[in-house]
Amino acid sequence: MPAKPQPETAGALPDDAARIMAKAALFAPPPARLADGRRDLVGLTREELAAEVAAIGEAPFRAKQIWHWIYHQGETDFARMTTMAKPMRDKLAENFVVGRPETVVAQTSTDETRKFLFRFRDGQEAETVYIPDPEGDRGAVCLSSQVGCTLSCSFCHTGTQRLMRNLGVTEIVGQFMAARDSYGEWPSPKGETPRLLSTIVLMGMGEPLYNYDNVARAMRIVMDGEGIALSRRRITLSTSGVVPMMDRAGTELGVNLAVSLHAVRDELRDELVPLNRKYPIAELIAACRRYPAASNARRITFEYVMLKGINDSEADARLLVELIAGLPAKVNLIPFNPWPGSAYETSTPAAIRRFASIVMDAGYAAPVRTPRGQDILAACGQLKTETVLARGGRA
Ligand code: SAH
Ligand code: SF4
Repeated sequence: MPAKPQPETAGALPDDAARIMAKAALFAPPPARLADGRRDLVGLTREELAAEVAAIGEAPFRAKQIWHWIYHQGETDFARMTTMAKPMRDKLAENFVVGRPETVVAQTSTDETRKFLFRFRDGQEAETVYIPDPEGDRGAVCLSSQVGCTLSCSFCHTGTQRLMRNLGVTEIVGQFMAARDSYGEWPSPKGETPRLLSTIVLMGMGEPLYNYDNVARAMRIVMDGEGIALSRRRITLSTSGVVPMMDRAGTELGVNLAVSLHAVRDELRDELVPLNRKYPIAELIAACRRYPAASNARRITFEYVMLKGINDSEADARLLVELIAGLPAKVNLIPFNPWPGSAYETSTPAAIRRFASIVMDAGYAAPVRTPRGQDILAACGQLKTETVLARGGRA
């Protein structure tokens, strides 16, 4: 009798997902409340906002108005929410705030990339980067999802910083809103009106799928049509390969997926991305094949950091195209960004060209990511480190 075909989804995955969610709860952010007891309204779901409004004795339709003020108008001062009478505005101000993280540093590079270091209420900090398109009329906001990371990828500087905690919904949405404040892009542009902050990439500090609940809630808020209204097609979540959560993100959020592949042989990927020991390449690619939100119009991005003499051979490039054969995909080649103490070098331009041409000959787009904001060190994890070092702290 022929062997039974293997099911598409590994049986252990739902258990793994539950374990990942339980672990995330151990690193939960503090409540979004000021010392004086006032609640920050940023980051509440519509239902939660309605409950807060009901708790101070106001009608449910007020929540809709407040939502519009917060996410469409970008208003932070209740006194200016003029669709409500003064006594009500006063009552709101007594009970709530519409907060932003504190901007510790905002630096703009000669190439217009702008990097922010934000501080949250408990003093934890994370960075956010705005990367404008060369045409200058749109751009991507790179958001952090955690302070530090548990995953220790060997080429990543964030991986050397232990996980302090997950960022909360308020803080994830807050990074976007504060970046938007700095460009004065309020009210939220409607429909197809061009916008400077036109896409979100979850590619800052941390592993977004290890903080799924907060990331998912935050993305639902930015996608809400009566506020920031960014389409799911304009949001890309980058993961190092948390397979059980990829299924959930695809079904529940439907955002674009980027996968930090970086190696095509398990032996090497085990070393570069240690999570590979848990979810090896074959499982990762299988999860990509069943990712519901992928199509030819919405291809999965495979990120591939170019490390000299490590993963940049022609044989690696050929293995890569075999691995992703038939997937709607593109390959983003990222020249390695060195950091003090890193053990790798960037591939030579010739090696990158050779690698890219093999991938392109197989029919995949293989853009080489241009380093941006180098004069202000706008790369993964570096600003925070610089600031910590300048204060005499430990990186
Ligand atoms: N944790 C998620 C998202 C954040 S990292 C992930 O790993 O996908 C965003 C991207 O930057 C990832 O592809 C990551 O591998 C890459 N990266 C990290 N350090 C880098 C470095 N020093 N040079 C180039 N790319 C790097
Ligand atoms: Fe964490 Fe991503 Fe850096 Fe790996 S590459 S250590 S998953 S932030």
